[in-house]
Amino acid sequence: MADNTLYELLGVPRNVSDNELKKAYRKLAKEFHPDKNPQAGDKFKEIAFAYEVLSNPEKRSIYDRHGIQGLQGSGGSGMDGEDLLSRIFGGGMPGFGGLFGGFGGGHRRRPKNETQLLSLNITLEDVYMGKTFQVEVERRIICPKCDGAGGKAGCFSTCSSCQGRGRKVTLRPLAANVMQQVTLPCNDCHGSGEKINEKDACSNCKGRKTINQKTNLDVDVDRGMNTQQPIVLAGKGDQSTDAENGDIVVRLILEKHETFVRQENDLYVEKTISLTEALCGFQMNIRQLDGRTLLITQPPGEVIAPDSLKGIRGEGMPIYRGDSKGCMYIKFSVAFPENAFMQQANLAQIEALLNDRPPREKLPQEFEDVTLEDFTSTDRGEFSGERREAYEDEDEDDHRQPQCASQ
Ligand SMILES: [Zn+2]
Ligand SMILES: [Zn+2]
Repeated sequence: MADNTLYELLGVPRNVSDNELKKAYRKLAKEFHPDKNPQAGDKFKEIAFAYEVLSNPEKRSIYDRHGIQGLQGSGGSGMDGEDLLSRIFGGGMPGFGGLFGGFGGGHRRRPKNETQLLSLNITLEDVYMGKTFQVEVERRIICPKCDGAGGKAGCFSTCSSCQGRGRKVTLRPLAANVMQQVTLPCNDCHGSGEKINEKDACSNCKGRKTINQKTNLDVDVDRGMNTQQPIVLAGKGDQSTDAENGDIVVRLILEKHETFVRQENDLYVEKTISLTEALCGFQMNIRQLDGRTLLITQPPGEVIAPDSLKGIRGEGMPIYRGDSKGCMYIKFSVAFPENAFMQQANLAQIEALLNDRPPREKLPQEFEDVTLEDFTSTDRGEFSGERREAYEDEDEDDHRQPQCASQ
């Protein structure tokens, strides 16, 4: 069962949007702030911790997939942090210092190798059904032959050129008669601070302690996951002997789907039906993202009005880590017949059948004949644009008056 503790602390569902998350946090932070609510103890810290994890896309992704254990091993040993986590989750939670940033209070973190960013193109079908991708990455790994030693014992000596510092201060001309002092990596040891005796060096890594390796990593795109959030493969990136393993962060690029648009847990599709179908019923197939065919039967007489929205419960996206699915919404457009689609004599039959012509208003003695013309949507935009400006002017006047009155 997925760990839900941090979401429960903030009283939000797992699929909470960033915006809702922020709102929930602000509300609780106000309520439990120590100034206002000194009896609440560490509740404020707990809320702030939950928000710190969930508002960070990388940390939230790790927490969603691996629970709080997944966030472990960020180095350091923050006593405050461990106490806090024990209270939230119960039991000993070692090795969390690095998680806290400001929380643990100034704990030194072991440096970490750089994060490697990848992007992965996925389809809506992939997110609907879930899919594991094999992604080839090139990364630095600890040399397996020498286990990162670089060679036999004693094969390294301190670089005499930089006295083991790896850097050298040099003067270089900045302008005529002006020298600038710059610190550059040492050329002789390439910044490592040590020199290697070549004949004792490891034959596999030539004394570099790491080698480059191409490897295939599994990237799990889970059913219903939020594709805006990157997938973090914690510690799967570059390795080195003096820093923690780097992460690989996979950004998902969702391809546009030809039928559906996803909005959170719902699917949207637009369909155009004929006037006959709108009035007399129809059957329609919709191919679901898993390949199933859904048959819609609209009985004759149940009218579909133009631009009406209908929904099918349980045919939206799967809820991430849940058992249910969202809704599929269908927006219907009704295609009316072309001009002169029917002879006038037959129109009379339609009129007789529909029999819904409203009684006409009485014509006064004086009137003018006018003609309806076709306008494009651009024409209409200009027209309503003029009107809008006119209204805005009125608004300004309205606002000005009370100001004058108060002066
Ligand atoms: Zn050197
Ligand atoms: Zn080696």
